[in-house]
Amino acid sequence: MKILEIDLRNQTFKEITVNKDLIKSFLGGPGFAIDYLMREKIHEIEPNNENNPLILMTGVLTGTSFPCSGYYSVSSKSPLTNIYGGGLSGGFFGAELRKSLNGIIFKNKSNSPIYLVIEDDHYELKDASELWGLTTDKTTKELKSRLGKQFKVTCIGPSGEKQIKMSSIINDHGRAVGRSGMGAIMGSKKLKAIAVRSTQKINYYDEKKFKETSKTLFHTFKDSPMVDALHQVGSNAINHYESFADVPHKNWSLGKWKGVNQISGNIVAEKMMVKLLSCFMCPFSCSRKIEIKEGPYKINEMKGLLEEWSKEK
Ligand code: SF4
Repeated sequence: MKILEIDLRNQTFKEITVNKDLIKSFLGGPGFAIDYLMREKIHEIEPNNENNPLILMTGVLTGTSFPCSGYYSVSSKSPLTNIYGGGLSGGFFGAELRKSLNGIIFKNKSNSPIYLVIEDDHYELKDASELWGLTTDKTTKELKSRLGKQFKVTCIGPSGEKQIKMSSIINDHGRAVGRSGMGAIMGSKKLKAIAVRSTQKINYYDEKKFKETSKTLFHTFKDSPMVDALHQVGSNAINHYESFADVPHKNWSLGKWKGVNQISGNIVAEKMMVKLLSCFMCPFSCSRKIEIKEGPYKINEMKGLLEEWSKEK
């Protein structure tokens, strides 16, 4: 397992060795990160303390041919709950990161805005003062134009920079590590973005067998009735949840809400859908490119964002 530890204050890099018992216990992902955070005694410090690490981890299947294997996790002490915080995101960034690294641990804080570039085994921290203040979409576009469109980018926008406690980290123009304010921790470290590109390959114990199994599973999922439902309404099945009072209306104070039929996935499919999109190796394609053609909420900004994303595929 190859984990890169970066000291943002001193701008130093260290590849850390993970012992075999730890690998067997956690395999990677948030489990490894939680173990690390407990050893760092995060219960004794404030979330914006420089000693609160920010940990990006891939999982054991990330970046492989296994279905839905684009995910990566981000973990830290949450500024929102003051206990462990973490989120996951799909898209393509995690799969690209896994080709070079299993994870990254950011320690300390930078004194000025910076971003990290990973290209195979080469790591570099660069000045991000010109990026500070940009939205996540503009940051992603700017980094791709500076570094090359093959780079995958995850970053924060102005809310993360201002350490708003519910800020997300956004990768691939629109996928979010949306839970527990991980964007605010990234902002507290003055880390604007991470851009990664790798030409390396993941090692398999038995590549042929693994790929055969992945292919079988991929087709099993693709042919399942669940895929039909996800293609039709995406993950926005709010009208279904409403039938058993499971709608987060007014911050979960009400489980039922008669307006659900105006915002459900069925309405999106009927009135706004342009095409289906999916993350890395995902047979479900729950995401969609949409367009609101008329009315007060007419938008083409979302179309712009997702168009960028679909161009990259
Ligand atoms: S397209 Fe939807 S189901 Fe597939 S990995 Fe992305 S978020 Fe998950």
